[in-house]
Amino acid sequence: MTSYIGRFAPSPTGPLHLGSLVAAMASYLDAKVHGGQWLVRIEDLDRDRNVAGADEHILASLRRCGMLWDGEVTWQTRREHLYEAALAQLAQHIYPCGCSRREIADSQTRLGLVLNATLVYPGTCRAGLAPGKAPRALRLRTPQEPHRVIGFHDRWHGDVEQDITAAVGDFVIRRADGFWAYQLAVVVDDAAQGITDIVRGADLLDSTPRQLYLQELLGLPHPRYLHVPVVVNADGEKLSKQTGGAAFDNGAPPAALLTASLLPAARFLGLDVHADTIDAFWRDAVPAWANLLRARDAM
Ligand code: GLU
Repeated sequence: MTSYIGRFAPSPTGPLHLGSLVAAMASYLDAKVHGGQWLVRIEDLDRDRNVAGADEHILASLRRCGMLWDGEVTWQTRREHLYEAALAQLAQHIYPCGCSRREIADSQTRLGLVLNATLVYPGTCRAGLAPGKAPRALRLRTPQEPHRVIGFHDRWHGDVEQDITAAVGDFVIRRADGFWAYQLAVVVDDAAQGITDIVRGADLLDSTPRQLYLQELLGLPHPRYLHVPVVVNADGEKLSKQTGGAAFDNGAPPAALLTASLLPAARFLGLDVHADTIDAFWRDAVPAWANLLRARDAM
């Protein structure tokens, strides 16, 4: 008997849109295909980005789509004692850092490193806070000699490898604003909730090696991963409210919901589904996802 437990973990920064619906749908279908449970966790730790009511709006959208979750919804802001306990467990790998983003970006430019989305931390405070600096964030040491290369098998992308030392460097576990970093919280929660399978957007593919490393340090099991393609707009930007993702309309009648949301999300995932009711949609989408996985050898 399979004991699959999957999850959808939205940040409540706005309503669901095509991009987040794709991640929700893929994780839901994967759980159904494997006869597993599907949990929903609201990742609301970044209090500056939370939008009041967005959590309930997202949950209502999932319900309207017929994506019913198992068990109770969890909110990360109610689980901070767990992150505190993990931090204590990591104590020997952690150090306070007094550098600002600006300083890290400047040093990256000085070193001639190519600027990318992830700032590689140059290790300024690794041997102790630099003089005159006050502790801001907490960072986790990455092995220096030799570098640490983390490899894993992604069910969609195949074998993936990242030198975490070179690609990210010592990374933040608790942010300068006092908020718990996503990387730590997601690892702690996935383990605490017994998640066996993570299905999410490929924008998180390069976070996964950090999460595998944290699982290793904390003695937690590694889940399986599947990263689905990310919906982008005409400028190639990940869809969000700011980049043109139309908000999910909880008031739309079921027919409109199908044509404006469910069918486009399914089509984006490469599922050949034609349905005129929501029930019929799921009846067809579950075996279509199974076929897609078989064709990709990703079951
Ligand atoms: N909360 C993240 C997001 O909304 C997803 C995290 C995850 O699935 O690991 O982008």
